[in-house]
Amino acid sequence: MSRPSSTGPSANKPCNKQPPPQPQHAPSPAAPPAAATISAAGPGSSAVPAAAAVISGPGGGGGAGPVSPQHHELTSLFECPVCFDYVLPPILQCQAGHLVCNQCRQKLSCCPTCRGALTPSIRNLAMEKVASAVLFPCKYATTGCSLTLHHTEKPEHEDICEYRPYSCPCPGASCKWQGSLEAVMSHLMHAHKSITTLQGEDIVFLATDINLPGAVDWVMMQSCFGHHFMLVLEKQEKYEGHQQFFAIVLLIGTRKQAENFAYRLELNGNRRRLTWEATPRSIHDGVSAAIMNSDCLVFDTAIAHLFADNGNLGINVTISTCCP
Ligand SMILES: [Zn+2]
Ligand SMILES: [Zn+2]
Ligand SMILES: [Zn+2]
Ligand SMILES: [Zn+2]
Repeated sequence: MSRPSSTGPSANKPCNKQPPPQPQHAPSPAAPPAAATISAAGPGSSAVPAAAAVISGPGGGGGAGPVSPQHHELTSLFECPVCFDYVLPPILQCQAGHLVCNQCRQKLSCCPTCRGALTPSIRNLAMEKVASAVLFPCKYATTGCSLTLHHTEKPEHEDICEYRPYSCPCPGASCKWQGSLEAVMSHLMHAHKSITTLQGEDIVFLATDINLPGAVDWVMMQSCFGHHFMLVLEKQEKYEGHQQFFAIVLLIGTRKQAENFAYRLELNGNRRRLTWEATPRSIHDGVSAAIMNSDCLVFDTAIAHLFADNGNLGINVTISTCCP
C-alpha cells in the first residue's frame, strides 16, 4: 500500500519518509505513539466577509482613516471607568448618572465612580441614541485596525478582524499562547518541539497507532512554497463506540494567503482511494470550527482500517498553488 512520495528530503525511501509526529494530547501515558495528521478545509471555508461593514454616522465621517479629535472626544464619553472598553447599548447608569459597561456591571455591587447603588437599573436612552450615531474604533485599533464601526457591527467584525491576535494553532485547548502571525512559527518551534516538519509539496503524513483509545490528535508541519502548513488528524468519539477521524490542513498565514493554495488529502491502498481537496484554512480561523462542521476529510474507524497498515495510517498530502 505504500507508495513513494515524490518529493521531500528522503524521496528515495519508500513510504515512511515522515518522521513520526507526536500526538498532541494522547491519553495514553507512556510511549507517545508517532502519528501524522492531515486536515482539510472546505473550498468555501475561506470565504470570510472581507472587512466589517462601515456605517457612516450622521454627518459622514465613518469608516477607516483618521478620526477627528472631536469624534474621539465623543467616543471617549462612552469609556467604561473599569475596563476602558466602550459602554454600548443597552446603556445603564447608576442613581447619580454614571455609566459602566454591562460586563463590569454584572460583577459590581456599587457604582465604581460614586459608590452609589446600581439597582434598580436606570436606562439612559439619550446616550443610547448618541451611541447609535457614533462610530467606534475596532477593539484591535492598537494593533493596527483602522476601522470604525456602528456599535451593532462591532462584535461581528472583531471576531474576524485580521488584527485580532493569533492563537496557538495546535489542536486541543491546552496552549493559551496568543501573539502576532510573525511570532507563531517561533512559538511552535519553542513550545511544541515535538512537532516534526517535512519539506516539500507532496509528503506522506503517517499517523501511527490510530487504534489508541479516546480522543487523539496527530500534528505535523509541512513546508513548501515558502510557507508553513500544519497538518492535523484528530480522532473523536462522537458517541459510545463510534469514532470519527478528521483531517485538515491549516496555513500559518492569513485567510487571504490561504486562498492562494489548495491541498489534497488522499488515503490510498488495497485497491481503494479516498480523496479530499480544499483550500487550506488560515490558523486565524483555527481547526475546531472546521471539524465541528465536518468541513474537512472525515472518515470512520471502518474506513481507517481499510487503509491502515498495522495500525498506522498514511495520508498523502499534496499542496499546490492556485493561480489567482
Ligand atoms: Zn467595563
Ligand atoms: Zn455613580
Ligand atoms: Zn478590526
Ligand atoms: Zn502553543
